[in-house]
Amino acid sequence: MKLMYINGEFTKGNAKEEIEITNPATEEVLDSVPRGTAEDVEAAVRSGNEAFKSWRKMGANERTNLLHEVATRVRRHRGDLVQWLTLEEGKPISENDEELEWVANTFDYYAELGRHDRGRVIPPGEASQFNFILKEPYGVVGCIVPWNYPLLLMAWKVAPALAAGNTVIIKPSEMTSLSALYMAEHCFDGLPAGVVNVVTGFGPETGEPLVKHPNVPVIAFTGSLGTGQRIASHAAPMMKKLHLELGGKDATVIAEDADPELAAKAVAYAALINAGQVCTSTERVYIPKPKAKQFTEAIVEHVKSLRLGPGLEAATDVGPMIGDSYRTKVEGHVEDARARGAQILTGGRRPKNFARGWFYEPTVLTGVDHSMLIMREETFGPAVPLMEYTSFEEAIDLVNDSPYGLGAVLLSEDPKKIKNFFEDVKAGTIWINDPLTDNYAGPFGGMKYSGGARELGIEGLDEFRETKHVHWDFHLEDKSYWYPYGRE
Ligand code: NAD
Repeated sequence: MKLMYINGEFTKGNAKEEIEITNPATEEVLDSVPRGTAEDVEAAVRSGNEAFKSWRKMGANERTNLLHEVATRVRRHRGDLVQWLTLEEGKPISENDEELEWVANTFDYYAELGRHDRGRVIPPGEASQFNFILKEPYGVVGCIVPWNYPLLLMAWKVAPALAAGNTVIIKPSEMTSLSALYMAEHCFDGLPAGVVNVVTGFGPETGEPLVKHPNVPVIAFTGSLGTGQRIASHAAPMMKKLHLELGGKDATVIAEDADPELAAKAVAYAALINAGQVCTSTERVYIPKPKAKQFTEAIVEHVKSLRLGPGLEAATDVGPMIGDSYRTKVEGHVEDARARGAQILTGGRRPKNFARGWFYEPTVLTGVDHSMLIMREETFGPAVPLMEYTSFEEAIDLVNDSPYGLGAVLLSEDPKKIKNFFEDVKAGTIWINDPLTDNYAGPFGGMKYSGGARELGIEGLDEFRETKHVHWDFHLEDKSYWYPYGRE
């Protein structure tokens, strides 16, 4: 069993039971972690608050160096970390290698951003005054992380939170806790004790006590809408700062001018990376009627050529899903679409050549509409539903016809269409011709039910800083606007 990390020490805490972590490609148990409790959260909060006293006051040079050191250690242990990610999450090794690069670079990026500014000076109202804005840390930040990018989505919270002077408690997903504990042992171990704590366990048993704890002023959460709503209902009466990154139902629009073969490759990547288990996966594809046949044939042919297999095999394009219940949900969406008249052009079933593992064949459907689950609810699996549109305005209306607003993709080189798209689509990220590519300086996050938080960029740092305005008059002297009124 791997142990939790509290106050710089590895501990079983108060856990009476273990949680097994399973390899989704083989269904074999990899290892286990403690089934943490509210008492373990309590110990981590105490440790985080104690460490906060000195971490928040540390000079920028020292703190910046310590954060760069985390990045250095991530790179040093990259091979092992990639292996753990592939074993416990399942996506292909090349995708995990990229995740690790992002993790290291995120720590480097925020290390420098953290020393760049602490607020600003503003012009005073009177000559005898001095006014400035301080950006201050909150205290202990609870970072609740999902399983699909276990280290990346952790880094997008932890790096800016630490750079701003907060301390953190990480609650990894109960399905992918091993990589987070490996990070604690090999990458966070150079930080002062208590600055980073990792508490493992189930959401209701460790995540919820963290959310409800009076000494945790910020909850940074990435996960499903339902869990986000639950967290919000607990945190709102306590006036906590909430940072919520929730689900999505992202669309790709293929414009008439796009090359069918290139569009097929772009759509397949956007829809099938990490077996479609990305919050910004393309889950709806809108294709122009006059070219529907061409685009459909190109996409089907390309998807059929992809190799399904275990993430550890270098030739694998698409890995297994994280678990059986997630696969069952995708099957439910595909079956609902089929029952309502959609046609399955490829996939739509479990592969026959794997005795174990939660695999599902990459699936392309046509004849779908917005009455079907697969076009309305988050599917979170390897499915590519294609729907025809007649005008570009209609395509934009279809994209916006969703409660979510995380990202949206357009494949086109037509400037008028591009402008209409980025102006009229309600989503936090608009990708044109290069789906799902992030930028360290470009804020990532959603609109509508996708949650309003932003990660990356200066916005991602500000999520973890409180704003304080200091109004300083150099002299304590009677002011004309004090009592009594009516003075000459
Ligand atoms: P989830 O909501 O089931 O779990 C996320 C985390 O919350 C886990 O660590 C879990 O243990 C914890 N949790 C569960 N119940 C809790 C509770 N009552 N209180 C506190 N914590 C609790 O989500 P998941 O299945 O791990 O991840 C998939 C979801 O995440 C998808 O909906 C996906 O769209 C979303 N996601 C969003 C983004 C984004 O940036 N917007 C990125 C990746 C994933």
